[in-house]
Amino acid sequence: MNSTKIGKLNQQRRAHYGLRSRRVFMQDGSVLLLSGITTAGSSSFGAILDQKPLSNFALITDLHYADKPTAGSRHYRETLRKLAEAKTVFDRNAPEFLVCLGDLIDAASEVETELGYLSRIVKVLNTIDCPKHFVLGNHCVDTLTKSEFLNGVGQDKSFYSFNRNGVHFVILDACFRSDGKPYQRKNFDWTDPNVSEEQVQWLEADLADTKRPTIVFTHQRLDDAGVYSAKNAAIVRNKLEASNNVLAVFQGHSHKNEHQLIKGIHYCTMVAMVEGSYEQSNACSIVSVLPDGTVKVAGHRKQASYQWPAT
Ligand SMILES: [Zn+2]
Repeated sequence: MNSTKIGKLNQQRRAHYGLRSRRVFMQDGSVLLLSGITTAGSSSFGAILDQKPLSNFALITDLHYADKPTAGSRHYRETLRKLAEAKTVFDRNAPEFLVCLGDLIDAASEVETELGYLSRIVKVLNTIDCPKHFVLGNHCVDTLTKSEFLNGVGQDKSFYSFNRNGVHFVILDACFRSDGKPYQRKNFDWTDPNVSEEQVQWLEADLADTKRPTIVFTHQRLDDAGVYSAKNAAIVRNKLEASNNVLAVFQGHSHKNEHQLIKGIHYCTMVAMVEGSYEQSNACSIVSVLPDGTVKVAGHRKQASYQWPAT
């Protein structure tokens, strides 16, 4: 009997006996295929779900910190207090790391003044006791160059990946113009974001190189959101879909709660910290990845909460 026939037979057998298989991601990055009787109510999956998360991390986005008066719904100065309050949430949950999904600072007319905003907000970030990762937002490089911003936050690269406890994480940089030039110092239109061609190739190779469940971070959106999406979002989504390991993409830029499920991948847009007055309008979250691939988002104040079972 060939393997296709055996596979089909196993499938029929599982359907007949109410058995189903489920992928379980292990801390070392390997994948276990579990079978259990789902109708019995005491499946082996319950025990897996009760286990502690493979990974948990903190998210903040669109802080737009600047020492300037409130404009419309953007309360620039209050970000300092909001971040201090977010720290109390993080202290209770002990995340393994924190990701800022971009627009950490807002524009000043002088480079020196803006570097001052950056060092002021980094000082508050440094009180949060875990490693930090920064996604570049268009406002991060509105007045500054990419290297000025990255130096300010102490990070080498604008796109890279890393593993923590069996989960793969990817930081993307969509601050490139359609002609491939990096955004910096007033040289761009915010409606022209792209994930650079070199980066798309790097992403494809990076994803091919892992079997771990994967989470992606980006500022400009990769789902379908018009001018808020990277212009080549569909090409990037193809790479994510082809890897078969990407569980979720977390994004900023739109300043509001939004969620799209596209071909089995969750695209979640997070609320901006700068929007609305302290403290009721604060927003941050703790995200957990469970061993069966379930992703849980615990939102604080304006940030929505979600739980996405493994697909
Ligand atoms: Zn923003």
